[in-house]
Order: sequence, then C-alpha cells, then structure tokens
Amino acid sequence: MRVVENILEIQKEIQKCKDTKKIIGLVPTMGALHEGHLSLVKQAKCENEIVIVSIFVNPIQFNNKEDLQNYPKTLEADLELLKQIGCDFVFTPSVNEMYPEQENEIFDFGMLDKVLEGKFRPGHFNGVAVVVNKFFQIINPDNAYFGAKDYQQLLIVKKLVEIKKLPVEIIACSTVREADGLAMSSRNRLLVDEHRQNASVIYKTLQWAKLMHGILSFDELKKQVTERINSVQPFQVEYFEIVSSDDLIVANSVTDFSGIIACIAVFAGKIRLIDNIILK
Ligand code: AMP
Repeated sequence: MRVVENILEIQKEIQKCKDTKKIIGLVPTMGALHEGHLSLVKQAKCENEIVIVSIFVNPIQFNNKEDLQNYPKTLEADLELLKQIGCDFVFTPSVNEMYPEQENEIFDFGMLDKVLEGKFRPGHFNGVAVVVNKFFQIINPDNAYFGAKDYQQLLIVKKLVEIKKLPVEIIACSTVREADGLAMSSRNRLLVDEHRQNASVIYKTLQWAKLMHGILSFDELKKQVTERINSVQPFQVEYFEIVSSDDLIVANSVTDFSGIIACIAVFAGKIRLIDNIILK
C-alpha cells in the first residue's frame, strides 16, 4: 500500500494503472475509519483492480468551526486498517494541496441541497461537491463508493456526476451499524459513555417508524418519533422528515411516492448524528 500526499504523484501512479487498463475504484473519506468505511473499501476491492482511499477532512464542508476542530483524526490507525484490508493507494492531501486558492465554484442542485441537512448546514453540500469533484478530476476513477448513511450526500454526488457529465459510476453501499443499531460514524467516538449507551434510541425509533408508517398519519409519526427520542436525555431531534427517496420531496402520506425514506438528525449534547431508514 502506498500513501501519497501529492496530487502530481498520485496522478503519476494512476496513469501507470490506466496504461495497463486497470479498473480503478475510489473511496473518499474523512478518516477516523470504522467498519462502515471498511465495508466500502471491501466492496471496492471486489469490483476494481486498484482501490484508492482518500483521507481528507474537507474544511469547506464544515459550517461549524468547532465541529471541524473536534473532528477525530486517527491517521496512523487508519493506515494500519487500510493496509490490512489490502488497499492499494491512500491519498492524504493537505488543505493547501487541495485548495491552493480560495474555492468559489457554486453548484446548482435545485432543491436537493436546500432541504434536510442543507437547511441546517448551509454551504455543506456545495463544499462536499467541490471536494468530490476535485477528487474525481484528480483520480478519474471508474467507480466511486458512497454510504447510504449519508443519503442526501449520495444523491448530491449522483447529481454532480450528472451535471458535470463525469465518466464515473457512483456505487451506493448500505449503512453498517453497531450491534445495538447505532449507525457507525466517526463522530460516535466523540460521544461520552452514557450518551453512547443511549444512542441506540435513534435507530430503534426509526425501526418503530417503519413499522408504524402505514398506520399513523405522517404528521403523527413525526410527532411521536420526535417525542420518543427527545424523552431520552440529552437527545434532541433537529429534524425528522419523511421524503421521496428519488429527490427528497416531503411526503405527506404513504401513497405520495413509490419510494419513501425517513431521515433524521439528532443532537446528543454537542454531537450531531444523522441516520435514515427506507420506509418503502
Ligand atoms: P466520512 O468519512 O464520514 O466522510 O464517510 C466517508 C464515506 O463512508 C461516505 O460515503 C459515508 O457515507 C460512508 N459511511 C460513513 N459511515 C458509514 C456507515 N456506517 N455505513 C456505510 N457507509 C458509511
């Protein structure tokens, strides 16, 4: 496994792979790797001849300075995990390498980046799109792997590929969970023990919502989901929305769309967690 910090160097390596017509898979991450990330890498290994994992905490997608400062960084451990799993290249550029100049590209995602996360994290998805677009331009992968845990991000990346007409296949990978159902996340390690123990309420309540979505009205469902989670200290729902899985339009009833997903953001103290569940 080679660790490369420099854009020109990774491009040189990739060119060698392309010269021999190797299929290249990219897994973009912000590090602090867990089994969720590794499931993407494993899938990429099955479907590509060369796997590149990028580790880059992208400052322009953080709308909250404190969140950026506190974001966990565990590079040594990450590299060890990637080595064990048989990753070919790890691309770890610095902020200066990625952004030698101030970035000002603005994407038009229509409503897609205005709802759910977009409503509470202004500029977040534009920052995601800028960095993912840069990685695609630098690496030019055949396939790129994204987790369904960040469902809206997945749709944004697909839209980015459509807008820019990029020759890359976006592969969605299912959410990997802890034994108690909590979606794995780099931010989970910031939870204090007591909050971590109680955090299973999020997925348990999402499962309950899936069970009840054909019985309760969506308004009632939203109310009860919020009440159930907020009743556990110190959890506070920021939003719980039921939307079409194609384009995140609010669903008012179960018959509104053929695919419906429920998405949630919850504060456990200062730590913000997101999750989702397909209702139908
Ligand atoms: P991050 O490092 O949080 O930016 O995540 C990098 C990639 O891993 C993104 O495509 C995420 O959606 C994906 N990912 C994060 N957590 C999980 C999980 N629990 N299961 C599956 N994929 C995940």
